[in-house]
Amino acid sequence: MNYDEFMSGKLDALRDDGNYRVFADLERQRGKFPRATRHDADGTTSEVTVWCSNDYLGMGQHPAVLDAMKGAIDRCGAGAGGTRNISGTNHYHVELEHELADLHGKEAALIFTSGYVSNWASLSTLASRMPNCVVLSDAGNHASMIEGIRHSRADKVVFKHNDVEDLARKLSEIDPERPKIVAFESVYSMDGDIGPIAEFCDVAEQYGAMTYLDEVHAVGLYGPRGGGIAEREGLMDRVDVIEGTLGKAFGVMGGYITASKTICDFVRSFSSGFIFTTALPPAVAAGAITSIRHLKQSDTERLAQRERVAKLRQRLDQLAIPYMANESHIVPVVVGDPVKCKWITDWLLDNAGIYVQPINYPTVPKGTERLRITPSPLHTNEDIENLVNALSELWSQCALSRAVA
Ligand SMILES: *Cc1c(COP(=O)(O)O)cnc(C)c1O
Repeated sequence: MNYDEFMSGKLDALRDDGNYRVFADLERQRGKFPRATRHDADGTTSEVTVWCSNDYLGMGQHPAVLDAMKGAIDRCGAGAGGTRNISGTNHYHVELEHELADLHGKEAALIFTSGYVSNWASLSTLASRMPNCVVLSDAGNHASMIEGIRHSRADKVVFKHNDVEDLARKLSEIDPERPKIVAFESVYSMDGDIGPIAEFCDVAEQYGAMTYLDEVHAVGLYGPRGGGIAEREGLMDRVDVIEGTLGKAFGVMGGYITASKTICDFVRSFSSGFIFTTALPPAVAAGAITSIRHLKQSDTERLAQRERVAKLRQRLDQLAIPYMANESHIVPVVVGDPVKCKWITDWLLDNAGIYVQPINYPTVPKGTERLRITPSPLHTNEDIENLVNALSELWSQCALSRAVA
């Protein structure tokens, strides 16, 4: 095989479809979120306002978080020095796991190097180690869950997105003796819609299935202490495994599950993706602890974010720029064409200093290509005006459809 020719051909096909990913080369500015310096291919730099970050509350720039990280480097140095099993368990990791178990009202927690790894490792371990297990997976589930289930080689049944009846029907068709896991999310990242957690738990209970909930886009943001949608709805004790990330609203990096002592010990003991990898740097764990503690007792960031989201939606409504309605903090503006979507975001970056990454297939279905806008507490009125005015100009230029008032 001519390897180079093969790979170049595949890449060209991606480009032709408008689905080739180009990364914005950014330098975040400490304490100035959502501002960043953009490095252009020609060596020039410019200042941009970031409108698509998952650092939803700006905690990645919070002074207390930065101090905690610097303090941990001064105490412990750079890396963990090993896997969790072989010399790499730092006291900060142990504290972080206590903090997370407490956040979700669970007996225990287990941290991983990312949310992706936590889903992949936990689901693949649970589904492969329970004999003859079936995983019922929501059709909208994130790639990390899909890959974890696939890796387990367990039978997988996909149920319609957020559809309780479809889940019940599919559960009823499975041998009651088989172990079953129902895997779903609370806030879905691309549409911003929210899963019916209580109803899913009812059905799972009826059929004796375990529940596995990804709260990655909800932790830190919902619930009185930032425990997510399950906390807000008083459902944390009904879900067997709650999975989350430290890399989005908590502003740092890493992933985790919280569950009973036995489930966490089971994953800890049998999961290759937990055991055979270097533990998170102590400073990362220290930053996460501070961020979680802060958001447990402060509602200020959550309330300000909600207000900013409402403000942006109000301005989009006034300019008749259509967006997908949902109950969360995510504002998806659908363009519906990959080439136009990329063109629009390039224009925003080059002409208005606005950075929104285009979201194309396979992240979202073809024909629903979009701008995924995530307002934070730190976006000002002026930022919002710049964004909506630029969008309005583009909507006229590109003859994109307006919402009917
Ligand atoms: C981002 C994401 C993850 C992965 O979390 P990371 O910490 O970024 O690896 C898992 N699930 C969902 C739904 C996500 O959007």
